[in-house]
Amino acid sequence: MVKTSIPILNVLADSLDAENVLTDTDSISAYQTATFITSQQVLAVLKPGDATQVQACVKVANQHKTPIYPISGGKNWGLGSRVPVQNNCIILDLSRLNRILDFNEKLAYITVEPGVTFQQVYEFLRQQNSNLFLSVIGGSPDASLIGNLLERGDGIGPYGERATHVCGFEVILPTGEFIHTGFGRFANASATPVSRWGVGPASEGLFTQSNLGIVTKMTFWLRPLPQFFQVFTCSIPDVAYLSGLLDTIQPLMLQEIIQGNCCSVWNSYKVFARQGRYPWKIMDGKTPLHLKELKRFERWFASGAIYSASREQGLAQRQIIEQALAGKVEELVFADDDSNPELREDNLYLGVPSNQNVKSTYWRKKSPIPAQLDPDRDRCGTLWLCLVFPFDGVVISPAVETIEVIIKQYQFEPNLAFNCNSGRSIHLFIAIMFDREVAGEDEKAMSCHDELLQMLTQAGHIPYRLGIQSMNSLPPAQDDYGFFLRTLKQALDPNDILAPGRYDFKNDWK
Ligand SMILES: Cc1cc2nc3c(=O)[nH]c(=O)nc-3n(C[C@H](O)[C@H](O)[C@H](O)COP(=O)(O)OP(=O)(O)OC[C@H]3O[C@@H](n4cnc5c(N)ncnc54)[C@H](O)[C@@H]3O)c2cc1C
Repeated sequence: MVKTSIPILNVLADSLDAENVLTDTDSISAYQTATFITSQQVLAVLKPGDATQVQACVKVANQHKTPIYPISGGKNWGLGSRVPVQNNCIILDLSRLNRILDFNEKLAYITVEPGVTFQQVYEFLRQQNSNLFLSVIGGSPDASLIGNLLERGDGIGPYGERATHVCGFEVILPTGEFIHTGFGRFANASATPVSRWGVGPASEGLFTQSNLGIVTKMTFWLRPLPQFFQVFTCSIPDVAYLSGLLDTIQPLMLQEIIQGNCCSVWNSYKVFARQGRYPWKIMDGKTPLHLKELKRFERWFASGAIYSASREQGLAQRQIIEQALAGKVEELVFADDDSNPELREDNLYLGVPSNQNVKSTYWRKKSPIPAQLDPDRDRCGTLWLCLVFPFDGVVISPAVETIEVIIKQYQFEPNLAFNCNSGRSIHLFIAIMFDREVAGEDEKAMSCHDELLQMLTQAGHIPYRLGIQSMNSLPPAQDDYGFFLRTLKQALDPNDILAPGRYDFKNDWK
């Protein structure tokens, strides 16, 4: 390896080949770029090829007290991309650890390394002629399963609440030791990939949304494809009807007539952004687009999927949903795969990944959307706010109305979507879409984000997932949570070398 001025890199020369240590300006600049304004500098990028090399990097980082920041797919677009939370980290890019380690059709699981992507698993299952599918995300097909899970991301369709459908983590602790969650600590334990808790304190949760370990292996549970598959769509004229719509869907979810993560509600701006580009011509080059001012309705659209073991079961489910929605929605349409076999093709609800939603990050760009989508490279502006609400229209509607007012004040479109993740809670995604090449937009978008976050947290609506810019923006803990986290972090990572600042809420340490 080429000698550099960064001492830790010279020590790592024994473990990594030169091509897997990136220090050139172009690479560093790419890893330092997100879809919003950041100022963190990256010292270097290391690309280990296996878990032993990861472990070697961790040990050397400790000796040199140099912070490292692991990423897997590095597609955390809208929430920080590949940029570390704190300045002067070395990025540990785990994308070369990309093997599918185990697969079982009967017991419906797949065990993967951090670099394995949604596209890779989809292609693998097809090659196996599998009857199983993995819940995918609306984001990039090249995002990693493990990175998504470690953020406690949302999948589409059954098992979309991914963090409850995984087990068997292999973790390298910040001081270099290997551990396994669940039954994995026992040699040849037969239940490791199929039973989550193991025996003794359960530890998986400690490694999601944290900086307490580097995950090098994990098992994901898969779902059988349904015998009979249906989708439905409907709409309401505007936000005034939102509360009624949500309160009609909620009991259907609680009874699991519609399963968790199998129904979403989008506003028109979100639909438009997904379908194409900002209507520059109609708007005569002006922004923002506000449909009401164009004397059009700001419609909201609900869509969902029904998974059934038989046609008879599916039609009975459909009837219950139809009866519940009757008179409360417009344009209610059902489709099923008996009459429309294409329904199974290209369907996110059946685990087929797609780049379509990623196109929405180009919403405000004037240049054509490139064949290879890369919002970081193309300076697409995207800031997500990911919130969880009680599934109650009375609580949600006033919040949505305030959100719309704030976003419009900043001259952006209110791009909003709900994922009905259970009968009790619902996730709201706010996307602020802008063009980073337009002077002042970066700062304006961040101010809009910050005002929304402040308003929402003051109202008691706390995000369930954070962008790198918000790790210290939450209200203070009212209990000893800070003490608990500090005690864990200092015991497991005495030199604070692993992803410092990532969900460690240091403001609360006491
Ligand atoms: C249009 C659009 C749609 C999107 N839709 C969705 C969606 O439907 N659902 C959803 O959840 N997200 C969505 N996202 C957000 C994001 O793209 C995904 O969450 C994506 O999965 C994150 O990228 P990744 O999986 O490559 O994770 P990474 O970027 O690799 O990881 C995310 C973070 O986890 C930590 N980490 C990663 N790997 C490790 C490891 N091995 N050990 C320890 N820590 C690690 C790091 O801090 C890293 O920054 C969307 C984004 C866009 C732009």
